[in-house]
Amino acid sequence: MNIIFATGNNDKMKEIHEILGDMKGLSSVKSMKEWGLDPEIIEDGDTFEANALIKAQVVHDAAMAAGIENPLVLADDSGLCIDCLNGEPGIYSARFMGHDTPYSIKNPELIRRVNEAGTDRTARFVCAIAAVFPDGSHEVVRGTVEGEIARTPAGANGFGFDPIFFLPERGCTTAELAPSEKHAISHRGNALRLIRKVIEQHESADRK
Ligand code: IMP
Repeated sequence: MNIIFATGNNDKMKEIHEILGDMKGLSSVKSMKEWGLDPEIIEDGDTFEANALIKAQVVHDAAMAAGIENPLVLADDSGLCIDCLNGEPGIYSARFMGHDTPYSIKNPELIRRVNEAGTDRTARFVCAIAAVFPDGSHEVVRGTVEGEIARTPAGANGFGFDPIFFLPERGCTTAELAPSEKHAISHRGNALRLIRKVIEQHESADRK
């Protein structure tokens, strides 16, 4: 199978390579850009799962049209859901305050909104991953990690909202963890481990 990850986000692709690097059968994954694919994708679903599936299906169609044989397309949709903000920014995480606004502005603004909203600081990162198989069938899984919104940003690892995602049991943010420590517990790590199982089951069903 030719494995294609449907994302144009370099930070995510770096993590995906780090996580899948050790996984037999999935380490050869390449981004859609590396495959020369750049279809227009309109993420207009109203759940993480719906958006992940939209991305995977559009890129699967593009791969078939480009003559890529046996494409297995994976796509993720992820974000930060903050309980006291009614789950926001949620599926709009990438667009929160505009794509090009730096996280050095977005992160303090989220802290300000949480401070204003009250005492509950609980939040979770969510990652849905869709797989569209060469035969067009599909599966979607979800991984999460629970935490709280920090009182001040901390740490330089990771990307996006990592400096404000505090893990009470670790006493630090996900931006203060080494990459391998983040992947062992993260929403993306958990979702990729689940989708790997789904792919293995699909392959063993195909062999029967
Ligand atoms: P997507 O490309 O629509 O899935 O957007 C995901 C957005 O959610 C990113 O641009 C970040 O703002 C946020 N996000 C998702 N995963 C992470 C993470 O692991 N760390 C920090 N921010 C994340």
